[in-house]
Amino acid sequence: MLDLLCPNVYLESIYELDLNKLKQKGIRGIITDLDNTLIAWNDNTVYPKLDEWFRMLKEENFKVCIVSNNSRGRVKIFSDMLDIPAIPKAVKPRRKAFRSALDKMGLKPNEAAVVGDQLFTDVLGGNRLGLFTVLVIPVSEREFFGTRIVRKAERWVLKKLEHKGLLQM
Ligand SMILES: [Mg+2]
Repeated sequence: MLDLLCPNVYLESIYELDLNKLKQKGIRGIITDLDNTLIAWNDNTVYPKLDEWFRMLKEENFKVCIVSNNSRGRVKIFSDMLDIPAIPKAVKPRRKAFRSALDKMGLKPNEAAVVGDQLFTDVLGGNRLGLFTVLVIPVSEREFFGTRIVRKAERWVLKKLEHKGLLQM
């Protein structure tokens, strides 16, 4: 179980993602979480830095898809503003939405990475499907109250993984 919760890499933020390394692994697509991965939870602003990041991904020929457990309305705002396909109400860690994202991008599981801020949704779901998983530190400490409870369990798992030397920074 602990293996399924272990991200392939653990980064400070999406901006640390090494695109060349991903390419070397044959990864050509990025499935990204929305809240607290790209933007603070329930913030509605696309900051220039984020916009620039997506432009760079496109320039580097990466396919991108947002997969979020949040509502259709909220996810659509960003999907429209960033001009990126998105799947809302994804029910991560279930694999269905990740599979749909792969279909949209026309990629196989070993050709895509999942980027997210939560072990029990983004990383677990991605690992279950054999995707390359990237955990990032949450953008903001403001969160849905349910998530705050999950964070305690998450910190415990992260400590275990760190103790075993499994976390690649
Ligand atoms: Mg998130």
